[in-house]
Amino acid sequence: MSETFKALVLEDAEKAPVASVKELTLSDLPEGDVLVRVTHSGLNYKDGMIIKGLGRLVRKYPHVPGIDFAGTVEESGDARYRPGDAVVLTGWRVGEVHWGGYAQMARVKADWLVPLPDGLTARRAMAVGTAGFTAMLAVQALEDDGLSPGNAQGEVLVTGASGGVGSVAVSLLSRLGYPVAAVTGRPDNEEYLKGLGAGSVVARAELADPPGKPLLGERWAGCVDAVGGDMLAHVLAEMRYGSSVAACGLAGGPALKTTVLPFLLRGVRLLGIDSVMCPTDRRTAAWTRITELLPTDVLDSMTTEIGLDDLPDYADRILQGQVRGRAVVVLD
Ligand code: NDP
Repeated sequence: MSETFKALVLEDAEKAPVASVKELTLSDLPEGDVLVRVTHSGLNYKDGMIIKGLGRLVRKYPHVPGIDFAGTVEESGDARYRPGDAVVLTGWRVGEVHWGGYAQMARVKADWLVPLPDGLTARRAMAVGTAGFTAMLAVQALEDDGLSPGNAQGEVLVTGASGGVGSVAVSLLSRLGYPVAAVTGRPDNEEYLKGLGAGSVVARAELADPPGKPLLGERWAGCVDAVGGDMLAHVLAEMRYGSSVAACGLAGGPALKTTVLPFLLRGVRLLGIDSVMCPTDRRTAAWTRITELLPTDVLDSMTTEIGLDDLPDYADRILQGQVRGRAVVVLD
């Protein structure tokens, strides 16, 4: 095993952190009971925020970002994992308060890992990544709340559809048999979204503004929302009676200006989705279901491979809503 390895390191600077690819040694890594040789990581919206120093998510520098990764166990002090085991990590604030996946080696707690699901490669696990895992949790939450292909009256809406969460949500819902409407600000992605299974594509401008009235015509049987802000307020006013919205993200802003009327007069439910602290049994079940549902060619069609050097540029791009599908960081 080589003693040195490459990592994207963030160093504190007055305005924003400075990112550069550096050689580190194993003794630089934080404590943990499992040492993982990382082969793939993902680029998520939160990674973009961390690389650019937004939201004060990282308090201690130098820092290695990367909120998810897949690889093989190199050394383990925990009986659940042995050298050579393939593993995946998402969440637990890895890449924020603990060094993350933008390095060829990572040392983490065994509790944070799950075994790589049968049927997935490390690359494809990161094509799913935190974003896809969150999309699965959101779909699961809608179904736990009563939605089913048999009772869905009308389309299930996915906002931020050409992003990571959105692309996987569109694919999962369509595989499950729901009619899917995908909202996008990029009309040139219409063919891509229909290829993932969207039956219709809605222009972002149609839903971008506050609704104007507390309730509008009933349109959506359910919604996976990656955007938040005014779009979520608008969508809430258009939900069908008794339907639910799984709120995952804030690509359009964290503020939510709505009224209680969708909840009081239409029985709409707003379900919060958190992938970070999700319990292990729910985590493993979600990974198994993703593997069963998402064909590998669909996953591959939404994946772009990038290297560590590309990350600062890609961080800008994801924050500007310009990355389509999932970007997978290849480390080996
Ligand atoms: P992406 O950047 O890949 O996707 C977001 C998409 O939202 C963009 O592709 C774009 O899609 C759309 N969008 C971007 N900016 C705006 C805007 N100003 N107004 C309306 N739409 C916009 O990010 P991810 O899919 O990785 O993450 C999406 C959100 O989910 C983020 O806020 C992220 O932090 C959150 N998230 C939450 C998790 C959780 O545990 N709750 C876990 C993972 C992610 P289009 O061009 O098609 O309109």
